Amino acid sequence: MNSEGPAKRRFIRQLITNIRCGVCGRRYELDDVRILNHQGDLWVMSVTCPNCQTQGLVFATVTEAEEPEVIADVTPEELARFQEMPQINADDVLDIHEFLEGFDGDLVELLEGNFPPEG
Ligand SMILES: [Zn+2]
Repeated sequence: MNSEGPAKRRFIRQLITNIRCGVCGRRYELDDVRILNHQGDLWVMSVTCPNCQTQGLVFATVTEAEEPEVIADVTPEELARFQEMPQINADDVLDIHEFLEGFDGDLVELLEGNFPPEG
């Protein structure tokens, strides 16, 4: 059944405390993470490091049967790019919401970016 219960929240909590800042290595705490959206088992979270203030995005899957798994987090190179970008604002969050609402594909497809070749 479609139950979004405490079990999933516990998974998310467990997941978050296992993520470390890609720049300084500090573990995130719940206060450092904002859940932007979730679509099925895909959760999108924004994180802000309390130590070095680096911002990033975390994509994770949460399923009933398996341990929570981070499927994509930002690399130091990406973090460097993020730091040059303006802070995440409401428009960015809206973009992610709209993107996920319109997204109807496979998660692997999304992350690997296997777009059809041009021409
Ligand atoms: Zn940090």
